[in-house]
Amino acid sequence: DWLRDSASQALLGALTERGFQAYFVGGCVRNALLDAPVSDLDVATSALPEDVQTIMKNKGFRTVPTGIEHGTITVLIDNHSFEVTSFRKDVETFGRRAVVAFSTDIADDARRRDFTMNALYVGADGAIVDPLNGLPDLIARRLRFIEDADRRIKEDYLRILRYFRFFAWYGDQSAGLDPEALAAISENLDGLDKLSKERIGAEMRKLLRAETPEMALSAMEQTGVLGRILSGASTRSFAPLVHLEQQLGLAADWLRRLLVLGGEGLKNALRLSNADAARIRQYRQANEQALSPKIAAYRFGRDTGLDLALVQAASLGVPIDPSILSQVDQGAEARFPVAAKDLQGFEGKALGDKLRELENTWIESGFTRSKADLLNGLS
Ligand code: ATP
Ligand code: MG
Repeated sequence: DWLRDSASQALLGALTERGFQAYFVGGCVRNALLDAPVSDLDVATSALPEDVQTIMKNKGFRTVPTGIEHGTITVLIDNHSFEVTSFRKDVETFGRRAVVAFSTDIADDARRRDFTMNALYVGADGAIVDPLNGLPDLIARRLRFIEDADRRIKEDYLRILRYFRFFAWYGDQSAGLDPEALAAISENLDGLDKLSKERIGAEMRKLLRAETPEMALSAMEQTGVLGRILSGASTRSFAPLVHLEQQLGLAADWLRRLLVLGGEGLKNALRLSNADAARIRQYRQANEQALSPKIAAYRFGRDTGLDLALVQAASLGVPIDPSILSQVDQGAEARFPVAAKDLQGFEGKALGDKLRELENTWIESGFTRSKADLLNGLS
């Protein structure tokens, strides 16, 4: 659909009518072939970045030089945004930064990508260009490093995490992970320490959102990758949690999954946002105070109520009562009916104490006692 869209056609057409090659590439092609939703639209072209800018400006399309040093220009057409990157090839590589040069050969561009299923291209007419035989791998849901896994990992250690992420999302879960790739990963754990926490966090978020992340996660644990990025984390309760989420019809919640993995300094290890860190804190508070999920939802909101119910059930390995969802909703929606102005004759600290006492009575009643009933007990 996005390929037939007039903005997509206009973009590729502008480049090809000037004699350049232009293709959609990467995740959008992979996901379209799998009938999976497409997030961002990446385009690869034989045109140099300056040519891309000139051609687009001549057509009246807005351009933003988002990653001009990597040859990437964002092109805005109607309300679509495209990342257009000039064909490149790796010249020489040290650690995470590859020295790249521009190229006019699509095969060069394909070889510097990570996995064969991520090196598929499609032209404006819908024809697939597959320089590295990625299509059979994609159809078999076989995640394969392009060329030597060990060498490709040493060029960019983030590829270790991308390997698990793409396996979780698109790999054949019954075939399992490729032992050779896992061996190369195990040899390169030190490289993970060189990655920024932001990049690690972003990959982990995506991995944890997958529908079937269990196998990828346990391979991460066995190879030592998980412990390296989240010291003290364990997958012991992970599969039970995923199972409970599915049983209750809940969407995959990456933060709850992270919570069940545990580990030290989650916020810092993955550079969580303040809001995400707050949710983890609330869960821990609710857990320490031994609140019920319903009361936790009243105090901290629906997410924390569910976190408590699901993480506890998963770690104890016990089934969950399906009514937990409505209990948590009740807690989240409950509003204490008494306000300070209702309490005549109380002031200052005494007023606060009285309000809290009434609130506790109301909570203990399962949020059922009415305002009149609560105030009645006072006189
Ligand atoms: P999605 O956008 O659905 O998460 P994607 O495959 O599009 O998946 P991106 O991170 O958007 O992933 O990258 C786009 C493409 O760029 C990839 O498909 C791959 O070809 C290439 N790529 C991205 N990161 C790397 C990397 N670290 N090493 C090699 N190639 C990469
Ligand atoms: Mg993408």
